[in-house]
Amino acid sequence: MTQYAEQIYPGYAQQFSVDEVLFEMNTGHQQLLIFRNRHFGRVMALDGIIQTTERDEFIYHEMMVHVPLFAHGKAKRVLIIGGGDGGILREVLRHQSVEQVTQVEIDQAVIDLCRQHLPEHSQGAFDDPRARIVIADGIDFVARCSERFDIIISDCTDPVGPGEVLFSSEFYAGCKRCLNPEGVFVAQNGVPFMQSEELQTTCRRLGPYFIDQTFYCAAVPTYIGGVMAFAWGSDNSSLRKLSVSVLQERFSQSGITTRYYTPELHQGAFALPQYIQDSIASV
Ligand code: SAM
Repeated sequence: MTQYAEQIYPGYAQQFSVDEVLFEMNTGHQQLLIFRNRHFGRVMALDGIIQTTERDEFIYHEMMVHVPLFAHGKAKRVLIIGGGDGGILREVLRHQSVEQVTQVEIDQAVIDLCRQHLPEHSQGAFDDPRARIVIADGIDFVARCSERFDIIISDCTDPVGPGEVLFSSEFYAGCKRCLNPEGVFVAQNGVPFMQSEELQTTCRRLGPYFIDQTFYCAAVPTYIGGVMAFAWGSDNSSLRKLSVSVLQERFSQSGITTRYYTPELHQGAFALPQYIQDSIASV
């Protein structure tokens, strides 16, 4: 039985039994591996870093999507950067208020192979008439784009390889330019207990673009090392201060059912552990 050890941290790793290799290739952008593991089902890794698993993907995708969308309350146009497995797109399309979703993914192969080997992630979302898929580098798209969006979700890889530019000031400037005045920007921002410099870098680079820039958290089992942070940016500070009853009303009206997200958890996710608050304060 072969084992797959994630390479993200020297000296500390998680290891999966590879019960079946489903696909492996160098896509030209990144090394892609999809395998089956007895505990997490089908697992995808890019450049040695676990991206998503069948068993725990719902936590990440629900929190990356429903927190900004229920906070905004009337999002019509959404931009997704990255997200090649289709989980973010699937969750965004569950909101009937959304009229169009543009997804900008650099690697067509990730979309193609995830449609084939991780079909439960997208569940047909790539074929939804509201979805527009653009194969491009996210930083180039937001630099040139003349459209405006209510929500921008950066579901990118870690800041290595093609994903590195999606943690740059230039990328954040482009996202701010493409965001409507009441809009919300969110991005995956790693595991602060292990990657505190990633959080601090985001404060330095993203903070200047938004009146309200902070983080919210959720624990995703295969993003090892503690809770995962999601970066938040908006010029409307009230969006983050909605009452649970308002969130509950919007959630109920949406008809969406979830396995992780709840209105109470939405509000509570912005209550940051002291070590994360200290890390932010030290910037
Ligand atoms: N949930 C995962 C996480 O938090 O690590 C990320 C999921 S998704 C697989 C990450 C996607 O970002 C991949 O499909 C990758 O191809 C895409 N990506 C990386 N760099 C990009 C860039 N510069 N522009 C657009 N997409 C990019």
